[in-house]
Amino acid sequence: MSKLSKKFPKQLIDRFGRVVDYVRISVTDRCDFRCVYCMDEKMEFLPRERILTLEELHRVAIAFTELGVRKIRLTGGEPLVRKDVLSLVEKLGKLPELNELVITTNGSQLTHMAKPLRASGVKRLNISLDSLKSEKFKNLTRTGDLQNVLKGIDSAIDAGFDNIKLNAVILRNRNEDEVLDLVKFSSDKGLDISFIEEMPLGIIGDHDRAEAYYSSDQIKADLQSQYTLIPTPEKTAGPSKYFRINETGTKVGFISPHSHNFCDDCNRVRLTVEGRLLLCLGQEHSVDLKQILRSFPGDIDALKSAIVDSMKIKPKGHDFDLAEKPLIFRHMSHTGG
Ligand code: SAM
Ligand code: SF4
Repeated sequence: MSKLSKKFPKQLIDRFGRVVDYVRISVTDRCDFRCVYCMDEKMEFLPRERILTLEELHRVAIAFTELGVRKIRLTGGEPLVRKDVLSLVEKLGKLPELNELVITTNGSQLTHMAKPLRASGVKRLNISLDSLKSEKFKNLTRTGDLQNVLKGIDSAIDAGFDNIKLNAVILRNRNEDEVLDLVKFSSDKGLDISFIEEMPLGIIGDHDRAEAYYSSDQIKADLQSQYTLIPTPEKTAGPSKYFRINETGTKVGFISPHSHNFCDDCNRVRLTVEGRLLLCLGQEHSVDLKQILRSFPGDIDALKSAIVDSMKIKPKGHDFDLAEKPLIFRHMSHTGG
């Protein structure tokens, strides 16, 4: 811990009294998939000199944990395609104050990376899976191979993570007919699953997001045609609202940025791989941590000061409107979803 760290608060608290103890770190904007809700077919990726090095990402993580952050999620882009990402994971796994190190992945690299990730201290994984039909999976991801992802999920199960949760973005007329099958798949494998409403981040050029909107309430109704959903107060530090399926015990979460805004108890911020600290998923309020990292190399207090000050500009919440052109031009893959 740095010598002057006593002058810093032990917790990050914003002006609405919300404690921020969770950071999502995007380790790359690149990805081997091009999911239709996340990216445009032709994406331009950042040149190497504009992205934070693994060492810089580690320094930011240290600063956050010294300020009370207890959970870090590595995401992207596809976090597991960043070269040498395991070396960062290993270092983060050793941060003494971190309770939870989790990763969100599309599953494409898990056949060879699940075991090393588990060995490096990752206890929980989120794996995205929007379809169980090869052709539809290809259609939604544009480049993904379902069989490889399914093998990756099995490798993750074999690696013995404490918890694996599937994430599915459901779009009307694309995969809404798979809600029951996805839940059955999760139940059979003993995994949790969360359904996510599509958010209007970036121009994607594939579909009209308002037309494709399929609400959490509709998904719940689909599930209730076959199962009994029991509300549960269980929480993971994220925005999901959870239910248990009475018949199978499966935990089902709903992330509903449109129908059930989750801003009141927001406890998180995001770091883009360019070093921009985003205070809200759906707003542009941000602080440039790369500039601080590179102007004051090795000065952890400069970094911590900037992070503490950023709490003053964390907005009250987002206000997505699917009927409007996106107000947020950064894609989810740049944001660190
Ligand atoms: N590549 C990894 C993956 O797909 O899991 C991690 C990054 S991805 C941006 C994180 C999560 O964001 C995925 O579960 C993905 O389905 C979700 N996502 C991407 N774009 C989205 C959007 N526009 N609205 C809602 N969720 C989105
Ligand atoms: Fe890649 Fe994940 Fe975005 Fe799909 S959702 S394009 S896998 S970053």
